[in-house]
Amino acid sequence: MKSVCRANAYVSEAHGIKNQEALQCSNTMGRKFVVGGNWKMNGTKAQINEILGNLKSGLNADTEVIVGVPAIYLDYVKSQAPANIEVAAQNCYKADKGAFTGEISPLMLKDIGVNWVILGHSERRQIFGESDDLVAEKVAFALSNGLKVIACIGETLEEREGGKTNEVVFRQTQAIANKIKDWTNVVIAYEPVWAIGTGKTATPEQAQEVHKDLRQWMSTNVSGDVASSVRIQYGGSVTGANCKQLASQPDIDGFLVGGASLKPEFVDIVNAKQ
Ligand code: PEP
Repeated sequence: MKSVCRANAYVSEAHGIKNQEALQCSNTMGRKFVVGGNWKMNGTKAQINEILGNLKSGLNADTEVIVGVPAIYLDYVKSQAPANIEVAAQNCYKADKGAFTGEISPLMLKDIGVNWVILGHSERRQIFGESDDLVAEKVAFALSNGLKVIACIGETLEEREGGKTNEVVFRQTQAIANKIKDWTNVVIAYEPVWAIGTGKTATPEQAQEVHKDLRQWMSTNVSGDVASSVRIQYGGSVTGANCKQLASQPDIDGFLVGGASLKPEFVDIVNAKQ
């Protein structure tokens, strides 16, 4: 099945056909469900022990689980987390070392055994002014240093209401596509900004529509192969209560979870895929 679907995507690409059938077929290609918990600037050692305690049993082995940890606790979480939980930084810079006060580098992350980083989160873009280009440069630099990247994209409420969702999401993805060739170690997190931390989750249909359109866009603008194989997470007020419906959508390959990743219900979210 895998090779047939891949071949379909190639054929449609070769013919310049926007073949949704080929891409939907690709959903059976074995994109492993991947759930990230973004702890943001939360947690003490005592709280981290509790969170990890909740994650020590009951995790579906078919789901890849990654926790995004404040930099100061990365080493601690690495030492405490069970082997089936990966650890991610929430940011890193685009240089190995130097006069960049307050920053950490991919080299440092690798040095302590951290293999993942979340880049381009909307809070980084909005509060810390990170541009599409800077995010893309960071993604490229992190990948070239052997990190795997969760690259976040998503529109604001104003942009959605202005009918610009796809324009924004495609622009942010294009900036990354301009800087990288190999998408093997990239997970895209589609996170509508209006849904982050607001309790206003995108409906499964709204999320699926953007994921499907983005995959289609990637088929045309990156390659059919990447469009079929890249994993796209949804993020924005995912909870134990709404995760199953979202997970049932064909182009949703996992979640990036903020608030609920600090709570016991994170286990239910990890196990959302039936
Ligand atoms: C996030 O921080 O990436 C996020 C999706 O947050 P929340 O789940 O709290 O909306």
